[in-house]
Order: sequence, then C-alpha cells, then structure tokens
Amino acid sequence: MRFLKKLSLLALTLVLLLTSCFGLISCKDNDGDTPPPTPTEIKNVIIIIGDGMGANHITAGEYAFNKTFCFREWETIDVNTNSVTALGEPTVTTDSAASATALATGTLTINGYVGKNPDQEDLTTILDIAKQKGKKTGIVTTDYLDGATPGGFSGHAVSRTDGATITLSQMQSNIDLLVGHYREDYIPYYGLIADNGYTVLDDFSQFASNKNANKLYGLINLEGNGGNVKLKEATDFALNYLDNDNGFTLMIEQAHVDKFSHSNDFEGAVNMVNSLNDTVETVLSWIGDRKDTLVLITADHETGGLYIDANEDLYQNQYTSTSNTKFSYAWTSTNHTASFVKLFCYSPILEDLTTLPTYNDLEDCIKNVDVFTLSKKYVENKLYAE
Ligand SMILES: [Zn+2]
Repeated sequence: MRFLKKLSLLALTLVLLLTSCFGLISCKDNDGDTPPPTPTEIKNVIIIIGDGMGANHITAGEYAFNKTFCFREWETIDVNTNSVTALGEPTVTTDSAASATALATGTLTINGYVGKNPDQEDLTTILDIAKQKGKKTGIVTTDYLDGATPGGFSGHAVSRTDGATITLSQMQSNIDLLVGHYREDYIPYYGLIADNGYTVLDDFSQFASNKNANKLYGLINLEGNGGNVKLKEATDFALNYLDNDNGFTLMIEQAHVDKFSHSNDFEGAVNMVNSLNDTVETVLSWIGDRKDTLVLITADHETGGLYIDANEDLYQNQYTSTSNTKFSYAWTSTNHTASFVKLFCYSPILEDLTTLPTYNDLEDCIKNVDVFTLSKKYVENKLYAE
C-alpha cells in the first residue's frame, strides 16, 4: 500500500512537473517572445566613411535632394570623435589621421599620427585582423591612397604628410585591393608597388580585364562630379573582386564632403553626401538578400559646423532643393568641429549599439573606437545565437 501511495505521489509530481514545463513553454509562446534566431555567420564587413560628414550634413543632403537616404532607418547612435594630445590626456577636436586610426585600430591617438599610438608604436588595423582570419581586404577612396583616412586603415607614420612612409608601410599590409585618386607623383612608386605583387592600374577602363589579378592598386580620377559616378563603379568592382568563401573587409571613403565643407561650399558638400548615399545603394543592391554582410556608415569628424533648418529664414543662407522647396543653412567654421557624428549599422543580426563598451548613457553616444570594437567582433567571424 505504502509503496503504491509513493508511486502515485511520484506520478502526480511528474505530471505536475511536466505540466508546469509545458506551461512555461506555452506561456513564453503566448507572450509573443520570438524564439532565438538561427545562428548567422557574418562573413563580410563594409565600413563606409563620409569624411567630415556630420549629422546636419546628412539632413542637408536629404533636404537638397528631397529624399530620405537609404540608411536613415538603420540602427543608429551618436559618436564622439575627439582625439588625444598624449596618452591619457584630455581630448581635443580630431583630425582625419587620428580619427581614422581610432576607427581602424580602436586606439585613441594624437592628431597627425597614422596607424600609430601616442608612443609612436605601430597599431594592428581591422584590415590586418581580417587578413589574419584569411579574409580578403580592400580600400576604395576618393582621396589619394596616402591620405589620412586610407592611411589610417593601411599604413603607419607619425606624420600624415609623410606620403612615402605611408605608401611603403601600406605595402606591408598586403591589402588585396586599393583604389584611390590618381596623381602624377605616384609614378615613381609604380615599380615598388609592382614589386609587392600588385598590378597597377591608372584608368578605370582597365579594371574589368584585371578582375582575376592577384592584387590590384588602382589610381583613377575620382574627383569632382565624375567622382560621384566612379565611387559607385569602383565600389561595385571592389565588392565582386573581393567576394569569396572566407569573406572580406572593405573600407569605402567619400573624402570630398570634408574638402567642400572646409571651403564652406554647400552645394559641393551636399552633392558628396548624396554620392555617399548612391554608393550605399550600390552596396545594398549587391547584398540583396544575403545574410552574411554587415555595413557600418560613420564619419571621422564633422567639418564646417553646419547648421540647417527647413525654415528658409532661420539662417543667413538659402538653398533651393531639387523639388523647389527652400531651406536655410549656416556654416560656423572652416575647420573640423567636436560635434558628434553618426554611426549607422545594417546587420542581419539585431545589434544594440548601446551595449558597446564606451556607451555613455548621459550623452547617449559612443566613442569612435567602438566602431572598431563592433567591426572586429564580426571580422573575427564569430557565431552568434542571438
Ligand atoms: Zn578635413
């Protein structure tokens, strides 16, 4: 009898336990909790930089062309871009060299330093890490390839004006594809570049016939309004050239937002922001329904202290959009400012940007070094269950 009692008690416990288990499961379902997504593997990381492109430049571009840019609805957060004057010293308004170094290596450094920490030691870039993981790497820029932004992603020098050192160190990074703006004084380097295994191209028409070359160093005229079209074309070429089973990491820069903003050329600046949007559209159409590619868009800093308002009388300058609406703008600087820039993130995996290590919940911003943190996580090709 006692044994039977014990047995029925055990059975009852089991039933209760099972019911509560199923109850829990069904309760979760009823609450509408989504099941954990299938692990997704991000193979490709694309970092797009609008040099000098502050939040107001983006709005200005949208007003001028009367459209919403394709990245407007992506996950986004503000980014503090300040650099340092020395290790552990207070921060200052950055230049493109220090900010490219921060974005590419996750280390804050001194203005003018390219791929070097404040102790003048070489830093490991996101493209170096990608190489170590067996990925292909690339840089496409409307700037010269020894400029501060491409330099920070590929070379090492204590002065951003030391083009020879940047080009020499860039050769050691073994990047598969480099495309930048042509200039005549590159010609003496052609031999050195070829000795490092690159096919040197100095016209865009040569790209298609060299798509199977091992490594490419493209110097083409990307400047001006032609640059708008060529940046898209070069990006499209780069995506197909670099695509492979192990994935790739690519940095794309529209350098001319900064250049036009330094001279307070509003029309030039908004054209270049629109060019960046066109390039992002090219990237998105290449991605299609692929689920293996992360895209980050940011800026190294804001240039020009640009203000913008839909009211045509608020600021001293008026501009007429492509759909004939008038709005007003003002420049407050001809230099870089400490204004926050934006980070936009396109990811097949839900990404909460407020969980990044440097997130400051008082200012609701991250530091630029976290663009590196985020890209490194995916370049390291980890599997994520959620
Ligand atoms: Zn600048």
